[in-house]
Amino acid sequence: MEQTKCLIIGSGPAGYTAAIYLTRAGVNSILIEGLQPGGQLTTTTVIENFPGFPDGIDGNELMDNMRAQAVNLGADVRTGMVQSVNLTERPFVVTLDDSTQIVADSLIVATGATAKYLGLSDETKYAGMGVSACATCDGFFYRKKVVAVVGGGDTACEEAHYLSKLAAKVYMIVRKDYLRASEAMRQRVAERENIEILFNTNTVGLYGEGGVEGAHLVRHLGTPQEERYDLPIDGFFLAIGHKPATDFLGQQVELDEGGYIVTRPGSTATSVEGVFAAGDVADPHYRQAIAAAGSGCRAALDAERFLAAQ
Ligand code: NDP
Repeated sequence: MEQTKCLIIGSGPAGYTAAIYLTRAGVNSILIEGLQPGGQLTTTTVIENFPGFPDGIDGNELMDNMRAQAVNLGADVRTGMVQSVNLTERPFVVTLDDSTQIVADSLIVATGATAKYLGLSDETKYAGMGVSACATCDGFFYRKKVVAVVGGGDTACEEAHYLSKLAAKVYMIVRKDYLRASEAMRQRVAERENIEILFNTNTVGLYGEGGVEGAHLVRHLGTPQEERYDLPIDGFFLAIGHKPATDFLGQQVELDEGGYIVTRPGSTATSVEGVFAAGDVADPHYRQAIAAAGSGCRAALDAERFLAAQ
């Protein structure tokens, strides 16, 4: 079985930054990229809040640059998915989707998070036929059409704003009577005439022949004013938050109630000695690229110290 000092799982800003630091420190390591090389930033457009780019930078370009920087320094970056890990004894054994096994003295989990769905059977029924969790990936298909975005946070506002430049009309379906999003994002939405916000509204189903043609909505759900109606739409976009990618850990590492990895205060160390966590998978609060990159650096330094002490 192949052996490495440190196996990095995940290829977002956290994973690539960890690879850059470990490679420069001369620590033998392997990075496994996962299903979506580059992570969530590859599904956004321009990024204006990553320092160092006065005019902003395209998300894919930023991730390509991080990957190239790691590879140029000599990082061992591989395609593949981690299927499972055995953390009961060290060295750890990591099994990939092609059944390859790698033995690692330490692990950095930087697997990020994926979009949440409402849990309606219609979301599965119409997957790829009008239901999406990525406006920048699929918005193109809805030019001059009518779409709805579910959620009232920054992501929902960003997605609605993006879609409003393509679609004829964008509804935001918000379950509360206010937007949770930041003032800046609320302002952006308010400036777009073709965005209409449906407050106090829940989605209970979707309908359509061979694709989404509308959503079954309920206003003031569970109250005396409850009102059910159908909204004709061509596309239904989810923007209700994210779920950390921790299933492959199989309860071997302490997680919080949201499934995020718990790290020791002031450290990237997890409940298992030798396992470190970086990026969104351990960050329910900030969830920013620069914060993920910073924690990737910290995880690499923590792993390096752990290895040196062995
Ligand atoms: P949030 O958790 O901030 O917002 C989720 C939204 O979805 C809320 O409005 C929530 O409603 C709603 N929601 C959750 N579950 C359901 C459900 N079952 N049915 C209907 N609505 C639901 O997630 P975001 O992804 O928007 O943001 C995550 C973090 O990333 C935040 O810290 C955010 O600031 C940051 N971010 C920053 C950006 C930027 O600055 N450019 C861009 C994108 C994200 P409710 O309010 O009722 O709970």
